[in-house]
Amino acid sequence: MPIKSPLTPVPVETQPFGTRLLEAIWKHGTTDPKKKAFICAENPDIYVTFRQLYVRCLSVATFLETHGFAHGDMACLVLPNSWEFFEIMVGACVRGGGISGASMLFTDYELTRQFIDSRSKIVFCADNSLERVMKAAKNAKNIRTIVVVQVSDRSVKLPDDLPFGVIKFDDVIATKPNLQSKEVDVDVKRDIVLLPYSSGTTGSPKGVMLTHKSFSTMLTVFRTHYDNHVYPKLDPNWQVEKEKLLLMLPFYHIYGVGILCTSILNGQTGVVMSHFDKHVFLRSIQNFKIRYLFLAPPILVFLANDPIVDKYDLKSLEFALSGAAPAGVDICKKAMKRLPNFKRIDQGYGMTECSMCCTMPIIDHNQPLPDHVGTLMSNFEAKTIDENGKELPFGQPGELCLRSPTLMLGYLGKPQATAESIDDDGWYHTGDLARLDENMRIYVLDRIKELIKVKGYQVAPAELEDLLLSHHDISDAAVVGIPDERAGEAPYAFIVRKNPLLTEQQIHEFVNEKVANYKQLTGGIKFVDSIPKSAAGKILRRVLKDTIDKKVKSK
Ligand code: AMP
Repeated sequence: MPIKSPLTPVPVETQPFGTRLLEAIWKHGTTDPKKKAFICAENPDIYVTFRQLYVRCLSVATFLETHGFAHGDMACLVLPNSWEFFEIMVGACVRGGGISGASMLFTDYELTRQFIDSRSKIVFCADNSLERVMKAAKNAKNIRTIVVVQVSDRSVKLPDDLPFGVIKFDDVIATKPNLQSKEVDVDVKRDIVLLPYSSGTTGSPKGVMLTHKSFSTMLTVFRTHYDNHVYPKLDPNWQVEKEKLLLMLPFYHIYGVGILCTSILNGQTGVVMSHFDKHVFLRSIQNFKIRYLFLAPPILVFLANDPIVDKYDLKSLEFALSGAAPAGVDICKKAMKRLPNFKRIDQGYGMTECSMCCTMPIIDHNQPLPDHVGTLMSNFEAKTIDENGKELPFGQPGELCLRSPTLMLGYLGKPQATAESIDDDGWYHTGDLARLDENMRIYVLDRIKELIKVKGYQVAPAELEDLLLSHHDISDAAVVGIPDERAGEAPYAFIVRKNPLLTEQQIHEFVNEKVANYKQLTGGIKFVDSIPKSAAGKILRRVLKDTIDKKVKSK
């Protein structure tokens, strides 16, 4: 029998997401007209109040309307973490469209693919990504408009001589909001607000269609869980709106954008880190007296090991939630030992396809460092299945399947991939091996799917294999993840050469030119005679992995 979350269900959201966010911003701006919605971590004198944010979001909406951005349209964002990211998201949602965030590390090759696949009409990019974006947009005829945001250094202005047709974000913000504008008739169950990319259990990255209903319900589930089951247990006097939230997780990833929206809905002040810089990170914790951190395992590794940590006063830091990839117990222990007031580190488990988290911490003061990922969040159901898809008795490890109103609509333009991951009964097959115990705690034991996680970022082996196979001197290739102390995992390639003179160096150069640095083959390259495959032609990744594990162990 599938199990249901032990927590009280929350109502499924029916309000359009843009309206929900605008109402929250309005409310917090009215309660305290001076309250800051966002502060720039790199330059804390620069900030935006809730009141300013409200008008800025409406200006973006009006700009989009006048530029032909209509119901169902998509905007691609090549931006570092910034409040502009949030404003564009609200503006697009208000106009009945959505956004697709891309990594600032993407090459023009990767950007072109996302521009085309996401069917974006408009790109908003940072000043320091404009050149790459323009190059990428040349090959994506669907892109009609490029808007550039000055975010690399907020104290400078953009030059006036921008390339022809490129619009400045300052001009967007200068747009007078059209308060008479007709509200777009949104279908909350079908219209997409976010289109992040994920490879799911197999294949290359795919656009994950998250609707108003799915993403907005996730935020309600998440906030309700914290308000009822986390904050009061950490401190009965916890006042969430008084705590500043450090926003350093990338907004283009579901975890980052989820925490970003949570910050606004809670009426918190978000301290926005444009990218991870260790000094800015530590200084922000120190100066803003951050108590609770939402982080990913590489940050724990940093807190545990980097000597620079001792140079800052981190007394305020008491709690953390780690997600996006497994956090090793040893590294958590080390981080806790290092920081004087660190009381507990919990883990959550989630995925893009479920709109962020699926399990959340159960605060148990006897267990400051739980070995599980908490319990199923409200409105979630779970079961485990064996390799033949047969449901396993409660408690037996197997592939975790999840069902919830927060689940994606599917992968954009990929009905087959959608059908392979969501079955007829609405269960999403996660590709993760997990077990549930009698106290409804969930243990994530292993990853069955192909996905590699480097610093919490997704690396799809299929994407790298396709790229390697496009090289004229390579006849076959397979990529797997190998353990890496700092990054969690690192991509490692097995290559069958057509030309015996092809060198590792040449392959690295070929790959590095085409993909973001976290996807590069930092694990290594091995030349082999053949790639082991099943009768159906599937790469036997376990067999390959076993050969490297031995090598790593024997080092
Ligand atoms: P993403 O969609 O990028 O968030 O990746 C989701 C995948 O990351 C999951 O299916 C898991 O394989 C992995 N993951 C996320 N959180 C955890 C965790 N706490 N422990 C183990 N694996 C995790």
